Amino acid sequence: MTDDDRPTIRALDDRTVHQIAAGEVVERPASVVKELVENSLDADANRISVAVESGGTEGVRVRDDGVGMDRDDVQVAVEEHTTSKIADIEDLEAGVGTLGFRGEALHTIGAVSRLTVRSKPRGGDAGTELRVEGGEVTGVSPAGCPEGTVVEVDDLFFNTPARRKFLKTTATEFDHVNTVVTQYALANPDVAISLEHDDREVFATEGRGSLESTVLSVYGREVAESMIRVDHEPDSEPVAAVTGLASHPETTRSGRDYLSTFVNDRYVTARVLREAVLDAYGGQLATDRYPFAVLFVDVPPETVDVNVHPRKMEVRFDDESGVKTAVQSAVESALLEEGLIRSSAPRG
Ligand code: ADP
Ligand code: MG
Repeated sequence: MTDDDRPTIRALDDRTVHQIAAGEVVERPASVVKELVENSLDADANRISVAVESGGTEGVRVRDDGVGMDRDDVQVAVEEHTTSKIADIEDLEAGVGTLGFRGEALHTIGAVSRLTVRSKPRGGDAGTELRVEGGEVTGVSPAGCPEGTVVEVDDLFFNTPARRKFLKTTATEFDHVNTVVTQYALANPDVAISLEHDDREVFATEGRGSLESTVLSVYGREVAESMIRVDHEPDSEPVAAVTGLASHPETTRSGRDYLSTFVNDRYVTARVLREAVLDAYGGQLATDRYPFAVLFVDVPPETVDVNVHPRKMEVRFDDESGVKTAVQSAVESALLEEGLIRSSAPRG
């Protein structure tokens, strides 16, 4: 190779670096919704309303009645790596009590959309509106608004056409949004969470604190009435404590499952948990039919790694088969008690 045909190594400009980084955090409208709802929960909101347009590809709006931000806060919040949730690595190692702490969501969302934040602190007297377009702050002005925060994200990926092209149909993108908001609603029965799609209400929970009433709001009466309490007291030293609700084996849907699993209150997806639930139903499920379940699995924090991937909701358990047995037998004993499955031979 001569000097002429050897590729030149050069530093990427800031704009390119940011857009590449943004793509890692924000994959699709549902990831925007996830970040904004987490911020609202971290802001101590009692009420969160999510509204999306065209599956979120045209617009996402999340409104909360949380602690809010003043004019300075709003401006700092959209800068790179700014957070009010930790101060340094010691805080992180001591354990974080909030859903966020990386300080990158608002900044990165602003880099790939037209972002508007309107906020007024609780007990404050002035609201602020801030606009960001493709990473540039285009305006800060006083705004009349209620206490709390509204974040609007329009034209996601307008400046990154390659990413925009990867968005799926409105129905698929909305399905992802719906899954995310549903999980946060189920995990936070004491917060009133609503979802609207193209000006139609999809669901609204009451925030009255009971899992049953939240399931009723989210999944409707048929499902809610078929739910069986899972509340298993293990005989021996538990690897995992399992509580929640699981549906009657005849209350199912085809094509995809409606299993929500939370490990130490964090929504996670794990093949082992899904298998445990489905195995508990044994032969009672018709082909390609899936039950509904909302299960809270509590394990000692040192026995689970929730940071396998910051964006994906995967976990790794130290004792995977122990957790599987705990979840499966919790669901089994609930179904057994109702006479909905036959007792099986004890597993080894
Ligand atoms: P992180 O959540 O990791 O701190 P974000 O970029 O999501 O980072 O948010 C940056 C900061 O902006 C937060 O730490 C918080 O102080 C503030 N903030 C964001 N959303 C809200 C909200 N809905 N209500 C009040 N403050 C918010
Ligand atoms: Mg955040």
